[in-house]
Amino acid sequence: MKNVAVIGCGAYQDSGYGCPGEWRCLKAAALGEGNYEEKSNVIAFFTCECPGRTVIPNIGMSMKLSEIKPDVIHLSSCMAKSKPGCPYTSPEDLAKMITEKTGIKVILGTHDYH
Ligand code: SF4
Repeated sequence: MKNVAVIGCGAYQDSGYGCPGEWRCLKAAALGEGNYEEKSNVIAFFTCECPGRTVIPNIGMSMKLSEIKPDVIHLSSCMAKSKPGCPYTSPEDLAKMITEKTGIKVILGTHDYH
């Protein structure tokens, strides 16, 4: 079973669309559904805040404090698949930056539930 970290879009979560990171990302991880490669332990859940500068430092701090390096990082579906998308970066660019800084594989999306 893989250890994964999830990063959600704080702007989307704050808009009251029913996703404070409450169940969809976590259910899909527990069942190995959606974009998860297998049943996964969610060992960290970050909320991005515009304009996104804190994401990579927060991943680093989480790894340092928890002493666990995630096997995979998922950009949540609200971050990777929503329309209109993030005005500050693309999921592809953010994923590339995270991988370059941490060496951790990044997957775009978490689930396909509605
Ligand atoms: S920077 Fe983009 S991904 Fe991050 S909270 Fe703002 S809109 Fe969402």
